[in-house]
Amino acid sequence: MKHKLDLLENAIDSLREALEKYEDGEAKGLSSYKFAILHFSHFFELLFKHYVTQSHPLLIYKNPFSKKIEKENTIGLWEAVQFLKNEGMEISKDFNDDLIWIKKLRNDIEHFKFELNAMEVRQVLGRLIRATNEFNDEHGIIDVADYLGGVHLKIYNELGDEYEAKLANARILASEASDDDDGHYCDSCGESYVAAKKGGELHCQFCEEVTFLFECIHCHEDYREDEVRTWNDDHSPHIDYMCNYCYDTIMNM
Ligand SMILES: [Zn+2]
Ligand SMILES: [Zn+2]
Repeated sequence: MKHKLDLLENAIDSLREALEKYEDGEAKGLSSYKFAILHFSHFFELLFKHYVTQSHPLLIYKNPFSKKIEKENTIGLWEAVQFLKNEGMEISKDFNDDLIWIKKLRNDIEHFKFELNAMEVRQVLGRLIRATNEFNDEHGIIDVADYLGGVHLKIYNELGDEYEAKLANARILASEASDDDDGHYCDSCGESYVAAKKGGELHCQFCEEVTFLFECIHCHEDYREDEVRTWNDDHSPHIDYMCNYCYDTIMNM
């Protein structure tokens, strides 16, 4: 039972630390912002592990059947996520997008490909808060408000609300501006329903990325670059593309 308590306490410590570093960042600049994101990412991981140990404390270990349990490695975030899926838990579209995005974020942090301005940091923390709230709403783990008080809670809510408002706004703009009246997934920010389809392009109303689309010569639907292959480039500069689905169907006939 010891681990269970430690995990939750450590998680909340990391969360407080993250919010404090964020506040420092407003005065001290980017290195504090980086730590804010690192601490928040750590909090998120511990929250997941805490969730797993609610089923049984020994599940924190990769091999709970080991004879030398104290020497066993503990699970990581992705094992904890997999546990959730194996339990048959419903995972919402937004939350799944968040997990994919968090994977990329952690990878970028580890490989030092990590340069963010103050605006982007607000957005990254806002999204991590959205993911935390979504996880808590879906699985009722902890009520963050009960563990955070005063200024911590104020920053947490502010960043979370700002992100939600900006996202909701982008989704409305996307469906209004889209040729097909529908918002689309954006590869760049990894959010659903945020990109407007205009001609042969997707214009993200959230992160402002523009993605070129390619029409499939067979089914005439539009696809992203990684979803098509060159079908015919004999008449350069005109090149025909075919979507992977049509291509596979034709090749397997
Ligand atoms: Zn985007
Ligand atoms: Zn096609």
